[in-house]
Amino acid sequence: MNKKSLLVILVLLSVTFFSGCTSSADNFSETAGNFERIENSGSEIRGNDSDVLYQISTIDALLQGVYDGVLPVAELETHGDFGIGTFDGLEGEMLALDGNYYQIKTDGIAYPVSGETTTPFATVTHFEADENFRLDEPANLTELEASIDLKLPSENLFYAVRVDGNFSSVKARSVPRQEKPYPKLADAVSSQSIFEFKNVSGTLVGFRTPEYVEGVNVPGYHLHFITADRSAGGHVLDLELKDGDVAFDITREFLTLRREVPFLDSHQAGRWGMKAVNFPTIYFFKF
Ligand SMILES: [Zn+2]
Repeated sequence: MNKKSLLVILVLLSVTFFSGCTSSADNFSETAGNFERIENSGSEIRGNDSDVLYQISTIDALLQGVYDGVLPVAELETHGDFGIGTFDGLEGEMLALDGNYYQIKTDGIAYPVSGETTTPFATVTHFEADENFRLDEPANLTELEASIDLKLPSENLFYAVRVDGNFSSVKARSVPRQEKPYPKLADAVSSQSIFEFKNVSGTLVGFRTPEYVEGVNVPGYHLHFITADRSAGGHVLDLELKDGDVAFDITREFLTLRREVPFLDSHQAGRWGMKAVNFPTIYFFKF
């Protein structure tokens, strides 16, 4: 058996195992290191990936200090116009909104991102709101999350969440570029810069992820913020919302990829009992 067929078998095995749905494996094939969707006639899967949450790496890998960028933004943006993440060397917070990618550095400023810039961890989707609602009452972060939770059809799906609002305050952070040997994330964030925005309008961009994917992504809400003029922002630590418009997009497919050595050699624990594995890691779920 040659290397390529072994690889394909391992990919199919891992997809089958983690999806718990053998038919999902039929929807993907590997070609030249990329994934190509094979359309099923009559399938509800849409060709433009609009309901796919596409992720590079896992949060566990990031926690362990796997910060080398592996995917250029030029490629990432073909998988989504909306999302969050970080950049090579953990340099700043990524925020993608309406097709524009921003890098929020430790000065709090949102810089445009060139296509060659790479990411070690990012989650993106093509945002299409499935539901919108208005919040007229002030809410802190916990209350905001609780009010969105009330509208969700299930706590076990992946959601992209957008809130365009007026805020009495937003506390946000960014992390400086790290040098090798990379520290763990818990140590890296000790050098974070924290910004307080007062009486500001802007947009929250992020995701709500089910608890059972702990280790793969951050369970619950993970939100980044950018001001209405798209000039500044960061990873949200706290906020006070005055009022705003909430939109969420139910993403019924989740695909995460990672295949280079630092990740493959790291220990991937989690509720699924993932262990370090020496083959490409591809988790594909369809709900
Ligand atoms: Zn973040």
